[in-house]
Amino acid sequence: MLSKRLEHLFLATIILALSLLGYNYYKSYSFKHNPLPNSYLKRIAAKEKDVLEHMQKNFGFQVQFPIIITDKIPGRLYGLTSYENGQIKILLNKKVMQESMDYVIDSVIPHEYAHALLFYLHKNFTANDGHSELWRQTCQELGGKDCRQYVNQQEIILSKLPFKVE
Ligand SMILES: [Zn+2]
Repeated sequence: MLSKRLEHLFLATIILALSLLGYNYYKSYSFKHNPLPNSYLKRIAAKEKDVLEHMQKNFGFQVQFPIIITDKIPGRLYGLTSYENGQIKILLNKKVMQESMDYVIDSVIPHEYAHALLFYLHKNFTANDGHSELWRQTCQELGGKDCRQYVNQQEIILSKLPFKVE
């Protein structure tokens, strides 16, 4: 009789594990195939407001750059800044948001905003990858928590984007 009970317990465990797996699969599938949930959009908007307040305080003016959320950025790059024909845009990678949203909020938005601001001020052209001491200071002055270059990533694009965002 004990073995029968064990068998049932075993079965129940498997069913539970399978449903958890299914639920997680469903969650990431639905995140991937639906627009970014409102709660995420709200956090991004709130952080942008915070960055702009830092800008006002530390630079004496505010300039807002378009933030485009896209799943078209190749690989696992958090975000990038593009400067094309005088137009500055910030792109955030939707694909990393489900697991790294805190990092995107605390660090990636100020990181990219600092690149964008230096483009705007025409101060971004000396350093070859854009992560100069001036960039780091700017990132911190915009409220960035972790102002470092992402590991081995090229995320400043000075030409036409190599992929379509919309
Ligand atoms: Zn960067």
